[in-house]
Amino acid sequence: MNKSNRKPASTLREPAELVAHGLARAADLAVLDKVAARYAVAVTPDIAALIDSDDPDDPIARQFLPSAEELILHPGENADPIGDHTHSPVAGIVHRYPDRVLFKLVHVCAVYCRFCFRREMVGPGKPAALARDTYRGALDYIRAHSEVWEVILTGGDPLMLSPRRLSEIMTELAAIDHVKIIRIHTRVPVADPARLSPEMIAALKVEGATTWVALHANHARELTDKARAACAGMVDAGIPMVSQSVLLRGVNDNAEALEALMRAFVECRIKPYYLHHGDLAPGTAHLRTTLAHGQELMRRLRGRVSGLCQPDYVLDIPGGHGKAPIGPNYLSAENSFSPEREQHDETRYRIADYCGDVHLYPPEP
Ligand code: SF4
Repeated sequence: MNKSNRKPASTLREPAELVAHGLARAADLAVLDKVAARYAVAVTPDIAALIDSDDPDDPIARQFLPSAEELILHPGENADPIGDHTHSPVAGIVHRYPDRVLFKLVHVCAVYCRFCFRREMVGPGKPAALARDTYRGALDYIRAHSEVWEVILTGGDPLMLSPRRLSEIMTELAAIDHVKIIRIHTRVPVADPARLSPEMIAALKVEGATTWVALHANHARELTDKARAACAGMVDAGIPMVSQSVLLRGVNDNAEALEALMRAFVECRIKPYYLHHGDLAPGTAHLRTTLAHGQELMRRLRGRVSGLCQPDYVLDIPGGHGKAPIGPNYLSAENSFSPEREQHDETRYRIADYCGDVHLYPPEP
C-alpha cells in the first residue's frame, strides 16, 4: 500500500471516490466524470493498494485510472475493433475459427482496463449476464456444432459469476461430447484474488472436459503474493494456466518490464501465451506502441530469457480476420542462379541469432 492513498474498503467506481482516496486530482474531476460516463471505471481494493500515487508514471495506475486522453478518438479506432459482431451467429457466441467458440457469459469485470478492446460492451448499464433464453440458445449452438472442440469463456470476466452458477455452466458444457476443452479468460486472480475460494476452484474442474485458465496481467507488480497464491490454488488443483498480456505504452513497453512479467508468470507455473498488440479500441491511442517497437522488444526478450518465457506477439487483424503472429522474422531465403543452366539452383537461408548476427544455413539437398 502506498503511503499517499488510503486502501478502500470496496471497489471504487466514481472519479470522486478516486479523488477521495488520493488516486486522482480534484482539478481533473470534471473531465474524469466525462470519461466515466462513457467507459466504465472500477478499481478494486487490491489494485488500489498497488498504485503508487506518488509516481505520475505508475504502470498500474496507467492501466486502471481513467484519463482525459480517452476522450480523443483516433482514425481507425472503433467500438468492435476485432470484429466480434461479424462472427456472432447467435447472442453470446463468437465463432471465428472452426474448432472453437467464444462464449460471452457476463459483461461485467472486477476492474475495467483503460485499453479494453470490448470497452463499449462491458460495464454497468450493459446486460450483466446472458438472459436464460439467450444462454440456452448459445448452448444449443455449441451442441449443434460438432466441430467445436474448445469453448472459451470470456466476457466480461467469467469469474465474476458465483461458484454455484459457474459450476452449472461448466457441467452443461462438459456434458457436450465434442467439447473437450473449456478455457477461461480472467483478470480476477490479480484484481480480486479472494474470489478464488476453494468453492470457485472446485467449480472450475469438471468431468468430461479439461479446464485451462488464461490469466490477463500486464506488469510483474500485479503478481502479488495474494495473486500468486490464487494461481497456485488453481495449478495445484490440476488446472493448467497460460498468460495473456497487452503491450502497453508506459506499462510494459521496455525489455526490463516485459522480462520481469514473463519471469513472474513462469515462476507462478503460468506459461506465457499471448502478448497482444493493442487493439484499435476507442480512446486508447495513448496506450498503444508501434508494431516496430513491439518486434524490437520481442527480439530483445529472445536474447534475455529462455523459451519458457516467450509469448507469441500477436495482432488481431481489424475487421474480424483473426489473430496473426507478428513477431520478428529470423529467417530469410535467397535463390542462387546458375548461369550455365540458366536457372535457379538452390535456396540459401540466412538466419539471425539472438544478438542479431546473421549466419548461413547449408543449402538443402
Ligand atoms: S478484464 Fe478484460 S474484458 Fe474486462 S475490462 Fe479488462 S480487458 Fe476488458
